[in-house]
Amino acid sequence: MYDNHGLTSAIPYVVFSVTTRCNLSCPGCFRIGHGQVDVQFDKFRKCLDILADASCRYLNITGGEPTLHPHWRRLISVTEHVGIRPLLSTNGTMLDSLENPALQRLAVLSIPLDGASEATNDKIRGEGHFTHIQELIREYRRGSFPFVLKVNTMVAEENIDELHGVLRMIDAPGIVWKLFQFSPRGEFSSQRVTKLSPVSCRMFSLFVEQIRCLPVTACRIASLGSADTGEYVLIDPEARVLIPRHESYHVIGNLLSGDTTIAALIVKASPNVFALPKSLAFLIDDRSKSERVKN
Ligand code: SF4
Repeated sequence: MYDNHGLTSAIPYVVFSVTTRCNLSCPGCFRIGHGQVDVQFDKFRKCLDILADASCRYLNITGGEPTLHPHWRRLISVTEHVGIRPLLSTNGTMLDSLENPALQRLAVLSIPLDGASEATNDKIRGEGHFTHIQELIREYRRGSFPFVLKVNTMVAEENIDELHGVLRMIDAPGIVWKLFQFSPRGEFSSQRVTKLSPVSCRMFSLFVEQIRCLPVTACRIASLGSADTGEYVLIDPEARVLIPRHESYHVIGNLLSGDTTIAALIVKASPNVFALPKSLAFLIDDRSKSERVKN
């Protein structure tokens, strides 16, 4: 089960934070580190080789804001080159168009949308975000793109009443909607003038039931609730290996240290990382569908 690098040979999904920089300041931000650190390309490449040896199938390239990394396009193409399907989780503000060639290599492009109106969304994400994301969603709905568009929404008291409107905006083939139960975390949660209020677990569950009863025509609802998000391995720009724990991260080693105990630590810290998170199960569904078509 273990390879020469001390990683298990069956971690299907890894998140890689390629930069700690970001141009937004959202409450509930779960990025690690708040400096100006970009992963060096050579370091990223070495990590990829280790992850490919460990049969990693999907790498979620994130940040901070990954498109602030000076070589973000190259990070996507080299990931694909080693045989790992890249995903990109971005706030979307730096993307002018979905036609960007780098995006066509992705399995999934994830963007946030936290309201059906400029007033609500931009209080959370910042001025101009709603209009920009709305345009990207329109472009996706008009065009034909090889990647899934995943729209992530934080559910809080301030936006819960207009999330049916979000669903109407995104209900189209190829779009997946992921809902998170907002919990305040990260340095911006206390700094922002507009703070968000968490909904109770009961209110969130009721909302989920409502959503399940709605006549969703085309988009898929991938995950409903923080309990469904699953566990994952996260690599930071210094190649440290982290596991999410209690709304923070637990560092268990460094991928490039040659530390043969990392696998054992991962097994102990987070046995669930050996399965694809439920919210990405649609990737398997899509693959089995296309294989059926081929056969
Ligand atoms: S949650 Fe907001 S502030 Fe945090 S990395 Fe994402 S876009 Fe940046």
